[in-house]
Amino acid sequence: MPIELVIFDCDGVLVDSEPASNRAMAETIAELGWDISYDETTMRFKGRSDRDCLPIIERRVGEIPDDFLERYRERMFAMFRKDLEAVDGVAEVLEGLSQQVCVASSGDHEKLRMTLGHTRLLSRFEGRIFSAVDVERGKPEPDLFLHAAKKMGFAPARCAVVEDSPLGVRAARAAGMRPLGFAGTTTADAEALRDAGARVFTQMHELPALLVAETT
Ligand SMILES: [Mg+2]
Repeated sequence: MPIELVIFDCDGVLVDSEPASNRAMAETIAELGWDISYDETTMRFKGRSDRDCLPIIERRVGEIPDDFLERYRERMFAMFRKDLEAVDGVAEVLEGLSQQVCVASSGDHEKLRMTLGHTRLLSRFEGRIFSAVDVERGKPEPDLFLHAAKKMGFAPARCAVVEDSPLGVRAARAAGMRPLGFAGTTTADAEALRDAGARVFTQMHELPALLVAETT
């Protein structure tokens, strides 16, 4: 069945935000007394919404101060302002795609507008930006992708999802959509994406051919 809608995850797919996000998260968690490494932070939290991260941290350190997320976000946004960039080649690929596109991210709208705005991708997705805060359950549940497809007016079988996290690949499969695993950013784990059930690629310019060639 031909793909008519491409749903892009944001962090690690459109913008190379995962290194800064995970560094900011590791540093903010360390202030609570959990000396967590960057790698472990990435492994545990990548692809999850803030809301879904908190209980994991709480189980380890006990009660979390009210301003935890605020401190994390301040730190992360400062890093973004310094050196956040779009994923290599993504603007050109978006320009050339014949399918409709939208964004569906575990990040909230403020973070999405900040990262997409800073990398000059925002205008390409205006009015087509969906966040885990818009639905009840975040990835790996299918809610967010189903919500995005419905709002965009496409059946799940007509949708492909581009994801850099195994959680997101699982969500795409649960939604009945075609998962494409993008392993072109530093935090991506190609093998984990493959194990989760995605067709994996590492250069954004490979995407158009994958959307057309692959049939299931
Ligand atoms: Mg991601």
